[in-house]
Amino acid sequence: MDAWKELEEEIVRCRKCPRLVAWREEVARTKRRAYRDWTYWGRPVPGFGDRNARVLIVGLAPGAHGANRTGRMFTGGGAGNFLYPALYRAGFANQPTASHRGDGLELRDVFITAVVRCVPPKNKPTAQEIATCLPYMGREMDLLPRLRVIVALGRIAFDGTLRLLRQRGQEIPRLSFAHGRVYELGEGLPYLVASYHPSRQNTQTGRLTQEMFDRVWQTVRALLPPEEPVEGGPS
Ligand code: SF4
Repeated sequence: MDAWKELEEEIVRCRKCPRLVAWREEVARTKRRAYRDWTYWGRPVPGFGDRNARVLIVGLAPGAHGANRTGRMFTGGGAGNFLYPALYRAGFANQPTASHRGDGLELRDVFITAVVRCVPPKNKPTAQEIATCLPYMGREMDLLPRLRVIVALGRIAFDGTLRLLRQRGQEIPRLSFAHGRVYELGEGLPYLVASYHPSRQNTQTGRLTQEMFDRVWQTVRALLPPEEPVEGGPS
């Protein structure tokens, strides 16, 4: 079986964290009134995007009535309504909207993952749950050989990414999170870019503005070398 498909199926079947399994299913059963006609996904959410990507975006976890409902990262919730328009403006997405799987959204040069695949109560996964889920992200990284830049959305994603890289044997010093900062992790490793998470809490309070977020994606774009022309293509 194709390695991506195999990983995706394994993630979707995962029941390693009892507290999160119970919560994701409870949310899917009780639903939010506005979505009562939906059949919620209610399972772990696999990564989504361009499997040839040079940029990996790391989020926290599915939203209760966003990705836990639609089954696709950052889809159907407030954070996605801020993220995808920004990716579109920066040329990383073919459309600014994300409402459901099969809505035509395609990402270019970007793959989206999260440190935890199941919605946690109050958006707060435990350290143990993060540790249990992180290896899935490691396997996605192994399947992205062109990876050049990791963008961590929020402090938990930032710390989780560093933890994963250290677990993989990389010697990485203690780093502190600062929005908009670029971290050079060492030779042969991708750059790490930190951004505030585009949660409603951050975007509605002005902690993260559209302008600040656009600057993050301009920074990411500037870190990517120009694509090699395709052989036989236009010169
Ligand atoms: S959070 Fe990750 S490890 Fe835990 S049950 Fe969900 S998919 Fe499995």
